[in-house]
Amino acid sequence: MMTEELRCAKHPNEETNLRCSRCERPICVRCMVYTSVGVRCRECATERRSGINAPAAGQVLKAAGVALGVVLGLGALWGLFPGYGFWVALLLGFAGGELVSLAADRRRGPELQAVAATMVIGAFALAFILSAGFDGRLIFSTLMAGVALWLAVVRQR
Ligand SMILES: [Zn+2]
Ligand SMILES: [Zn+2]
Repeated sequence: MMTEELRCAKHPNEETNLRCSRCERPICVRCMVYTSVGVRCRECATERRSGINAPAAGQVLKAAGVALGVVLGLGALWGLFPGYGFWVALLLGFAGGELVSLAADRRRGPELQAVAATMVIGAFALAFILSAGFDGRLIFSTLMAGVALWLAVVRQR
């Protein structure tokens, strides 16, 4: 026999000659989903979509390296010039978040959110030490750190 008769894994009454390009399950026209990597069943198509932006370990590591540089650079800047905390915090949130995102090739996910959050907290801690408690601007600086944290983390979502 040249052709085997396939039936959809979900709909046993549907004859088909299609298979999911990932799990090889027979799928009918009702079940198939077109993706950039071929026709897939619904399960594999969703799996692909949710996993497509997840960073690889190397990308997380690279982002962490960049984040460390930002901590040292902007954390020191913030600590030396606590009076400019508003601007440094914005820079930390926007530019820092952007750099982490770039370092991870625009991937997204909880790992990168954690990297971004650690970056802001690290810079805040370094600035706190260098400026001996932000030179009397502790409450404002903490508020700005919160803003920076949100800005940097939201970028990785
Ligand atoms: Zn499949
Ligand atoms: Zn089907």
